[in-house]
Amino acid sequence: MCALINSCLYDVVVVGAGPAGSFAAERLTRGGVKVALFDGRPADEPKACGGGVTSKALKAWPHLLEAAARTVNEVEMYSPAGRGIRLKLKEPFAIYSRRAFDSHLRERARNAGACVISAGRVSVSAPKQNNECWTIKSTNTGEQWKCRMLVAADGANSAIARRLAGALTNSEMEVAFGYRTPLPSSGDVATVVAFLPRWAGYAWAFPRLDHISFGIATAQDDFDHHSLNCLLWDFMIGYYLKREDATSPLWSAASNARDKAREKDVEEKLRATADRYAARIPGLSPETLDQRRTTGDGWALLGDAAGFADPVTGEGIYYALRSAELFAEAYLSGRPMDFEKMWRADFGRELRRAGQMRRRFYGSFHGAPFTDRLVDFARLHGGIRRTLCELVVGDQGYVNLKRTLVRRAAWPF
Ligand SMILES: Cc1cc2nc3c(=O)[nH]c(=O)nc-3n(C[C@H](O)[C@H](O)[C@H](O)COP(=O)(O)OP(=O)(O)OC[C@H]3O[C@@H](n4cnc5c(N)ncnc54)[C@H](O)[C@@H]3O)c2cc1C
Repeated sequence: MCALINSCLYDVVVVGAGPAGSFAAERLTRGGVKVALFDGRPADEPKACGGGVTSKALKAWPHLLEAAARTVNEVEMYSPAGRGIRLKLKEPFAIYSRRAFDSHLRERARNAGACVISAGRVSVSAPKQNNECWTIKSTNTGEQWKCRMLVAADGANSAIARRLAGALTNSEMEVAFGYRTPLPSSGDVATVVAFLPRWAGYAWAFPRLDHISFGIATAQDDFDHHSLNCLLWDFMIGYYLKREDATSPLWSAASNARDKAREKDVEEKLRATADRYAARIPGLSPETLDQRRTTGDGWALLGDAAGFADPVTGEGIYYALRSAELFAEAYLSGRPMDFEKMWRADFGRELRRAGQMRRRFYGSFHGAPFTDRLVDFARLHGGIRRTLCELVVGDQGYVNLKRTLVRRAAWPF
């Protein structure tokens, strides 16, 4: 089928074979639509990502567990002051290598009958008249393809979204960067989330099957690479030292009495193996979310291209998949423009609320960082701890978070 591509007119072209694009292509193809999926990612460059997928997503799409992943039942969470809590999760979440996750979804689209085209990056020219087609052009080879409906699933830096819906400001972008490193040779491979001292955002250690993804996410307009990179190295070294000695501090530089030789040894080994990655994550303000369009005549935006990521946590995989599912439903019902109201009714309120909460979540509360208070409270109180566990796995939303916290805080269990 793909051999005929240049003479075909596709019903739908999906640009970007990340979770949003591949899932949309699969769903549309299964509904009888002629779809081309453009995969612009070089095979040796996996998407920069923690790879954490909540149990909410695993329950919605159980086939995700067919892709190789580490499932996690416990998360260590630390406050900016370095006080920790172990959250035992009622339902596990999964941590994927993005290579495995993305290829699982892309192969499902291909097996469903979508034409997967690896032509490098493509550019798009808009229809000149309403009933004309979009032209998709490979920037490598100059080959061209035509379609009636254009779906942009080309990620946080989407050139198509910039053109059709407008650019996002730096304050609506998170920057996340990190390193892939080998699994520790001894000790447990804990999953760790640590709220940053002095910065909005957090650092993570997400162990996958054969390596660990470390990272830091913070707001782009606060970004100071040198300081954050130092902080992340302290966190990574602290993580490895803690595998050998549980009493080690979370951030290696936090210790004055530390055995500097051990620290240096761990750091040298890490520097020789660590593979760096960096990328942006959208984190839209409520106002932008309200105003920015994600559909128009013959086009739609999905996943990160549409700005669908949680501004508090940076979680975007669930929203990428759910937006793909909703768009396919709207398109197959013959009313693609309904997608706009469908996502707003489905997860729009949650993203809006997260956008409102971001500043408070990383702000201060009665003289200390809110995240210090949250972890301290959860250490003491079973109800708050339970709510935090539910937030981590995606079962507790932001819209009724305050109500749940107040209700549970009243009962000491
Ligand atoms: C460091 C980091 C850590 C993260 N950790 C998590 C996490 O643990 N859990 C979570 O849920 N979310 C996480 N996210 C967010 C998550 O990665 C994204 O929300 C998710 O990948 C969005 O999926 P998508 O399909 O919309 O876009 P993407 O996954 O970015 O896919 C877009 C695709 O489009 C392709 N593309 C772009 N331009 C073109 C073009 N011109 N032509 C052809 N192809 C093109 C790209 O190569 C890419 O394959 C993280 C993000 C970052 C940066």
